[in-house]
Amino acid sequence: MKIARIEQFFPRHRMRLVRITTDNGFVGWGETTLEGKPKSTIAAVEELTDYLVGKDPLRIEHHWQHIYRSAFFRGGNVLMSALAGIDQALWDIAGKHYGVPTHQLLGGAVRDRIRVYAHWGIGSMTDEGKAAAKDRLEMLQKKGGYKAFKSGPGGTWRAHEPPAVIDAFVERAYLMREWVGPDAELCFDFHGKMTPALAIEVCHELKGMRPMFVEEPVPQENVDALKLVSDHVPFPIATGERLLSRWEFREVFEKQAVAYIQPDGSHAGGITELKKIANMAEVYYIHTMPHCAIGPVAFSACMQVDAVVPNFLIQEQVDAALGDGLLKTAWEVRDGHIELPTQPGLGFEIDEKEATQNREGYSEELGGEYYYESDGSVADW
Ligand SMILES: [Mg+2]
Repeated sequence: MKIARIEQFFPRHRMRLVRITTDNGFVGWGETTLEGKPKSTIAAVEELTDYLVGKDPLRIEHHWQHIYRSAFFRGGNVLMSALAGIDQALWDIAGKHYGVPTHQLLGGAVRDRIRVYAHWGIGSMTDEGKAAAKDRLEMLQKKGGYKAFKSGPGGTWRAHEPPAVIDAFVERAYLMREWVGPDAELCFDFHGKMTPALAIEVCHELKGMRPMFVEEPVPQENVDALKLVSDHVPFPIATGERLLSRWEFREVFEKQAVAYIQPDGSHAGGITELKKIANMAEVYYIHTMPHCAIGPVAFSACMQVDAVVPNFLIQEQVDAALGDGLLKTAWEVRDGHIELPTQPGLGFEIDEKEATQNREGYSEELGGEYYYESDGSVADW
């Protein structure tokens, strides 16, 4: 069996797909969506295509090593996302070739279903804002039985903010707790917008409503800053959606800087690397909650790893990840969980007609321009 063809598609907002076809007719799908950089991973996959065509698709680790090491310049979000999409597609082919779900080839499932969390929060405290938030919560609880939800403070945050700004966010968080009760988990993504001092202050205001975790309280580049926050906050801190490969997680582990990690199945090097990162984390009693804010192919790849990792905690799931209109059978959430995938490969049958169309134009996907209103200087997204 040899790789015959590699094609790429842009069927939806925030969704770049790779399709690898073998000379004997197997088809594997991967996702390379890199938020805010819509053209970069497409170019990177094109560069890797010459190497891959004609090769044995089952030598996944070998190809991973070549793509990561042979170009001399290693890592970076573009190469790692391109590598991730290719890796996912190869694991899809391997599962289909052997007639088993990919998780069977990764050591076999250690759980029967995958716990997920949905995105939900109170965006505004106006009557309309609260009514809209309540509607979505009730829909999620009724439809999927979700018991874990994530939101964030939103907006731009300066090095310090007056009590009114902090309180507006904290008040929403406590109201969310009141609505969901003590049996649900609530998490807050700070998107790396705060300084360590401000993050610690805000976390202390939040601690009474008992969050499951705060994510990226500070940016990802400085592990000591992250550890400073963790050391001063009495609940779990998480990070990792912008850390790529085991090498970028190493210092986080060695310094025990967080309780949970969030490697992204389409940015950190694919299924191969996601499992290795999770296995490294196990040694430090750190749990994994893979990041996935893109499409259903990436989400399905994450679930293959979630199935086999003992120290898995919960999987991030945005609405689009369930694959409505793109997968022939969308993933179904019941009681806040998804049943273990049983179909060969990544576990889905894609609607080829939908998946192979190319969307016109480009709208912002985390890119864009962000400035502080007060003085026009650059703010974090
Ligand atoms: Mg995040």
